Amino acid sequence: MQLHALAPAKINLFLDVGPAQSDGYHTVCSVMQTVSLYDRITVEKVPAGMVLRCSDPALPCGEKNLAFRAAQVFFQESGIEDAGISIHLEKNIPVASGLAGGSTDAGAVLLLLQRLFDCPISMETLLHIGGSLGADIPFCMTGGTALCCGKGELITPMQPIEPMHIVIARDGADVSTPAAYHMLDMAYGKRLPAKPERWKTLHIKNRKDMQPVMFNIFESVILPVHKEASACKAILREAGARSAMMSGSGPAVFGIFDEIDSARNAVAALQAAGAKAFLCKTCGGVQII
Ligand code: ATP
Repeated sequence: MQLHALAPAKINLFLDVGPAQSDGYHTVCSVMQTVSLYDRITVEKVPAGMVLRCSDPALPCGEKNLAFRAAQVFFQESGIEDAGISIHLEKNIPVASGLAGGSTDAGAVLLLLQRLFDCPISMETLLHIGGSLGADIPFCMTGGTALCCGKGELITPMQPIEPMHIVIARDGADVSTPAAYHMLDMAYGKRLPAKPERWKTLHIKNRKDMQPVMFNIFESVILPVHKEASACKAILREAGARSAMMSGSGPAVFGIFDEIDSARNAVAALQAAGAKAFLCKTCGGVQII
C-alpha cells in the first residue's frame, strides 16, 4: 500500500531574531504562512529496511536527509519493530532557500507513517517528535498562518489571512541558514533585540494589515551581498507586487499580488531574467492525498 502527501513550502511574513542563547540557538519571532508550492512525498511498506529516493540527485538519501531522520525517529518513538519502508521525495521546493523544504518533507513523513501504520500516537506527540528534529517542522505539519516564537517551535495559530496570489522567486547561490545567523551576529551582535517576542501582538488578517508590518531582519545582511535575490525583489516590485520580501534566511524572495494577471506577468519577467519562479497561493499544512 502506498500513501502520498503534499508538503507545502513556508514563507515568513515577519521575522525578527534575538541574540544567541547558551545552547547556540537564537530566539525568533515570526509570522509564518504555508503556500501551495509542494514537494510530493510517497511512502510504501516494504518487506524490510528503510530506503529513501529523491528526485534531486544533489540531496543526501541517508541519515543526512531530514525526511529519513524523521522516519527513524518515528519508529524509535512508536515502538514499531521490524517494519520496512520506502520513501520517495519529489522535490519542487528549491533547496537551501529559506522555504523550509527539508522541514516540510520531514513533517509529511511523520504524518504519513502515522497513517500507514495506523499508529495510536497522538498528534501532540507527533508534533513534539517533529520539534525535536527541527524548529520549523511542527509549523509545516499544521500550516496556515501562525506566530512562531522561542526557537520557532512555540506556535500560536493566527486567524488565516485572506487567500492571496504569491510569486516565489529563486536565483543565484544557496544560503546556508547557520551562515546567515552568523552574519546577523557579526552585523548586530548585542544590538539584536533581547525579546523579539515583543512583536507577539502583530495583527495580520488581510493584505492591508500586512504591508506595514512585513519585516525580515535577514534582508539587511543577505540582500546587499546576494545580487540575484535583490534583482528578483526589484522585478517583483516592478511587476506590481503589493509587497515583496525575502523569506527566512533567503535567498528566495516572494511577492504578494492582488491580481492573478500581474502575478503571471511577474513569473514571466523573472523567468526571462533567468530566475526560477513559482505562482502559488496561501494554503494549509501537509495534506495526505
Ligand atoms: P532551514 O530549515 O535551514 O531554514 P531551508 O528552508 O533554507 O532550511 P532546506 O531546503 O531545508 O533549506 O535545506 C537545508 C539543507 O538541508 C540543505 O543543505 C540540504 O542538503 C539539507 N536537507 C536534508 N534533507 C533535505 C530535504 N528533504 N529537502 C531539502 N533539503 C534537505
